[in-house]
Amino acid sequence: MRTRTVQWLVAPVVAGTLAAAGLIIFNPLTDAGAGKKADTGAPQRTVRNVIFINGDGVGAAHREAARLFYAGPRGTLMMDSFPVSGRLTTSPDDPAKIVTDSAAGASAWATGVATYNGAVSVDPAGNPLPALGAEAKKAGRATGLVTTAQVTDATPAAFFANAKDRAAQDDIARQYLERSKPDVILGGGEDWWLPAGKPGAHRDKPAEDPAEGSRGTKGDLITKAKADGYQYVTNAAGLAAVKPGKVLGLFANQELFQQKPEGQGDVYRPPVTLADMTRTALTGLAADPDGFFLLVEEEAVDEFAHSDNGTRVLQAMGELEKAVAVAKAFAANHPDTLVVVTGDHETGGLAIEDYADGDGPFPVKGTGLKFWIDWTTKGHTGQSVPVTAYGPSAERFNGQHPNTYVHEVLRPLLVN
Ligand SMILES: [Zn+2]
Repeated sequence: MRTRTVQWLVAPVVAGTLAAAGLIIFNPLTDAGAGKKADTGAPQRTVRNVIFINGDGVGAAHREAARLFYAGPRGTLMMDSFPVSGRLTTSPDDPAKIVTDSAAGASAWATGVATYNGAVSVDPAGNPLPALGAEAKKAGRATGLVTTAQVTDATPAAFFANAKDRAAQDDIARQYLERSKPDVILGGGEDWWLPAGKPGAHRDKPAEDPAEGSRGTKGDLITKAKADGYQYVTNAAGLAAVKPGKVLGLFANQELFQQKPEGQGDVYRPPVTLADMTRTALTGLAADPDGFFLLVEEEAVDEFAHSDNGTRVLQAMGELEKAVAVAKAFAANHPDTLVVVTGDHETGGLAIEDYADGDGPFPVKGTGLKFWIDWTTKGHTGQSVPVTAYGPSAERFNGQHPNTYVHEVLRPLLVN
């Protein structure tokens, strides 16, 4: 352990010196083998921190619609400006489905195994698999998850828990506290941490969605989290006042938005932004000298695409972009940090059109032009998704790969 720690401390200094000299800091030989054991038995480590960002439901056309809207036809989004880009195919291993859901997609990233829709890091037979976030923690890294969905929703769950059915969100919360122990947990879903009749900080049956209310069956997990040393915060002021150490932040009963069709009660006014949650998480995790793994997820793109709601999809893409900018700024200051941005699947079959069909018109930034967003489905599609990467080992994401390849790249960087 001591030898490895010394190497980690040396690597950023070297990288920083080269960067200051205006030289390219990427070394294809050492970076391509990062994390693999050399003959000496010592890992050749250039990556200390990994920030993995899921734009849930984000395909190439979602990025392009956001580019036209926020950057214009000659502009570039931060998420598209990363030096390496590739594509991931998303096929699950499901006896009845060829198009993935978020659970099978995230399980592929977290375990390297394609599985059935609804599975949370279990194989097609239902056997639990080692999940990347839990493994990184066991290997001594700090870990965190940040999402605008429930913190126990399929994507974060696949990195830090195992379940035959993604609906078991209360048991997933229990596993966070008892088994995988992420240091930072920020998002929604307080309903799953408390038993029925105990509303918590977010009241049951709120006007904006009367179906919400506490529903956990694993006891009062918030009291348990506090006893385990987590700070518990529930609003923007609490998030701003987070002190160093473990933190659980649940800012809504369920998601941080209300996913309805346009004009029918759709709301995306998150009590805390994904960018602010990401910034808080990075500040805390960066204190660990052993490095960290952070999962960041913008869930609203997927859910508003399910509602064919172009206005809110563009808004959610903007929130994703701001969180990517926070991660990129951190990585620019910490050259031993790999940032990966992708999507678990495409949602909606989104098409950008220049005639009045579907949602719109939306202005093309910096021009007098307009575009419309049209949809082919209210579900997911089997399109491959773009992946972009920045930092050491980013070049591994060049080309087209199955989504399980994410695990092949990230695991040796985080676990050895
Ligand atoms: Zn979806």
